[in-house]
Amino acid sequence: MSVFKKIRNSIFRNIHRGDRYHCIYCQQTANRFRAAGSHSKRIQKLNAVGTARRQNAACPFCGSSDRSRLLRLYLDKELSTSAPQTKLLHIAPDDILARWLSRQTPEFTCGSLYPEDFAEFNAIKLDVTQIDFPDNYFDIILCNHVLQQVPDHLKAMNELSRILKPGGWGIIQAPIAHALDTTDEDLSIEDPREKRQRFGSTLYCRIYGKDYPQILQENGNWQVTEVRPADFLTDDEITKNALIPNEILYRVNAM
Ligand SMILES: [Zn+2]
Repeated sequence: MSVFKKIRNSIFRNIHRGDRYHCIYCQQTANRFRAAGSHSKRIQKLNAVGTARRQNAACPFCGSSDRSRLLRLYLDKELSTSAPQTKLLHIAPDDILARWLSRQTPEFTCGSLYPEDFAEFNAIKLDVTQIDFPDNYFDIILCNHVLQQVPDHLKAMNELSRILKPGGWGIIQAPIAHALDTTDEDLSIEDPREKRQRFGSTLYCRIYGKDYPQILQENGNWQVTEVRPADFLTDDEITKNALIPNEILYRVNAM
């Protein structure tokens, strides 16, 4: 940890001392977590879960995000019954989740278009629209907050489905604007500021709407189910872990 982070954490610990929130990764508590998310007014207005600016999102000590804490809590339960040799693919991972996950199965593979950014996990180069793995290879795939950046996202969904074994499953998460009935996409925008204003980030080419699970369903040989925090956590656990109560995990079960 850098000297800057140590000093920042120490200041934060003193200012926000308390136990209102708990971080499952670093086991620290505080009465306030850091705000995070896009400042785009449009994204705020669209109530884009997972990307709009929000309070109490990031752990001030280790930086874990609300969505990585949600996924960790879900995987804690789901992986406890997995076979030891489960082949798991984590695409463009959240570092903090990957660090934990890579210790859960010896068959952990990390893939990214930019593997140099994930050298800690021995990442391989992986283009999600053209995945260099055989059919039916993985038992579990995690692909979170990636597809909103991929121009040909339908091809990516089909590729993810292809490499997932029948009986395998995955979580394919993306920021969702619940105020939009249909996904808003424009592949022609090049100006990063325009992308940020319209979609919430300079890297995004779309913001998904309520049709996201339907798009997912139509582009893979799988069954999509929506898992809500309240399906596997109590209200107290949702509050304590500083989660977004209406953040949905989109789970695919391969046929
Ligand atoms: Zn933490």
